Amino acid sequence: MKRILADRTDLIQASGIRKIAAMAAAIEDPINFSIGAPDFDVPEPLKQAAIKAIAGGSNSYTTSAGNDLLREKLTSQAKEEFGWANPSVLVTCGVSGALVIAFMATINPGDEVIIPEPSFSMYRHLVNMAGGRPVLVDSYPDFDLPVEAIAKAITERTKMIIVNSPNNPTGVVYSVERLKELAKVAKENDVLIVDDEIYEKFCYDGDCPSIANYYNKVLLMRGFSKAYGMPGWRLGWVATDECLSEVIEGMLKIQQYTFVCAPTPLQQAAISAIDYDISEYIAAYKKKRDIVYEGLKDKFEMVKPGGGFYAFPKVPAGSATQFVERAIANKVMIVPGDVFSPRDTHFRISYTTTDDKIHQGVDILRSLV
Ligand code: PLP
Repeated sequence: MKRILADRTDLIQASGIRKIAAMAAAIEDPINFSIGAPDFDVPEPLKQAAIKAIAGGSNSYTTSAGNDLLREKLTSQAKEEFGWANPSVLVTCGVSGALVIAFMATINPGDEVIIPEPSFSMYRHLVNMAGGRPVLVDSYPDFDLPVEAIAKAITERTKMIIVNSPNNPTGVVYSVERLKELAKVAKENDVLIVDDEIYEKFCYDGDCPSIANYYNKVLLMRGFSKAYGMPGWRLGWVATDECLSEVIEGMLKIQQYTFVCAPTPLQQAAISAIDYDISEYIAAYKKKRDIVYEGLKDKFEMVKPGGGFYAFPKVPAGSATQFVERAIANKVMIVPGDVFSPRDTHFRISYTTTDDKIHQGVDILRSLV
């Protein structure tokens, strides 16, 4: 019989996180540490801005590059923050949409993409789908940016290096020193950096530095999903310095013939999001980070997360998969580390739930050691 599915679908394994979320749905009152989305809803004024945009007729396409005023604001932000004289900005369907068009616009068959692991699994699947080759570089056990290993992994075929800070799944924030070292390596080898900063607002111990301050061949990606409780709105953006305007043009062509544009009324509402103060949410998430870290650090080997909303402890013995099964049997939904890397030794906690639930979950995890 003729096979209908294209071979590229074989390159992707079903998301391990979705499987756990489905199990959570079957458990009564679970402690759900598996979902990578904040537990707060869209702030009321931003909801009203979206409703107003729909009622006011902002329902057709925008240009593929995005709403003019939104892009103007994001462009000013990029100028001010990175000192780029003439940045190019595209509004995308989430950071996921930015990654899709960036990879389609830059990766040729056989091109290598260096990914520090553990990492957000979408990177390696998208690289494979684009015909590239993910080159996984280990960042265990401290999860710091593995600059020396990245430098060693660079070959003639290296097209890009992925940087994600604050990091999913580890919560680690890379230091200025490490980012500068990587910028130097990238410059020496003339390699593009894709800089996924979707968690940049979730930053708990001082600033979260950006590599875009030290290198200009960077595709900087940020999004609205996490910071404003709107992952379903599908809004993100990508910005570059003038030296990569050709790449942005390539990405724009691909956006025109794939996503067309990000959702119009929601782009309109996102203009208000830029000036919306979310410091209360961030303070609440810092407290959640502390409950998790202080509650687990004496029982589990773990790095203190500096940002994002994840922690990535090591299981004390046995495989992470076995530990996760035991946790789930006790109603705590966590994700085994092999979803993010080839190693089955750690597990991810997404502490996007109430403080009460976090305390309960921490107690149960401690009791399993
Ligand atoms: N990048 C990272 C590191 C993520 O964790 C996620 C979502 O979990 C995304 C990108 C995609 O975010 P979105 O497409 O909602 O902007």
